[in-house]
Amino acid sequence: MSRTPLDEALALIDLMLVTGDRSLCWPWPHGKDSNGYGRVYGGQVLVSHLVLEQDGRPRPTAPGDHALHSCDNPPCFNPAHLSWGTNKRNAGEREERGLGGGDKRRGERNGRAKLTDAQRQAIRDEHVPGYGNSKALMQKYGISQPTFNRVLRGK
Ligand SMILES: [Zn+2]
Repeated sequence: MSRTPLDEALALIDLMLVTGDRSLCWPWPHGKDSNGYGRVYGGQVLVSHLVLEQDGRPRPTAPGDHALHSCDNPPCFNPAHLSWGTNKRNAGEREERGLGGGDKRRGERNGRAKLTDAQRQAIRDEHVPGYGNSKALMQKYGISQPTFNRVLRGK
């Protein structure tokens, strides 16, 4: 008998719900989408949704509800860092914490956007070494590879 990707995902989620340290981020080790969110089953199922359901917090019936990351770490599937909410609330929270605004600034100076300290910190927080989301982050913040490297080195 063969196990489906969904079986594999549920087995890992169940294991982590029992043994995982909920004070840490749990980066999803399997398939992820272009935004870094864990997905299984050909991409239709978000890992964050599965985790919340397995943790006894089924998806609310209101349309447009998403699993939000309090840690701003898309591949993380620790239920302690996840909650149900709408995209709008997610955007609002990011704005409050100074993580938004990347798009507004992009291209202000011939594509060499100036970064705020909050954005630099956000880039360092969002960067997942070894996973390869560098390109997505450079696009998101409208910065070049050298700028990105400087930010990672804390300069
Ligand atoms: Zn996390």
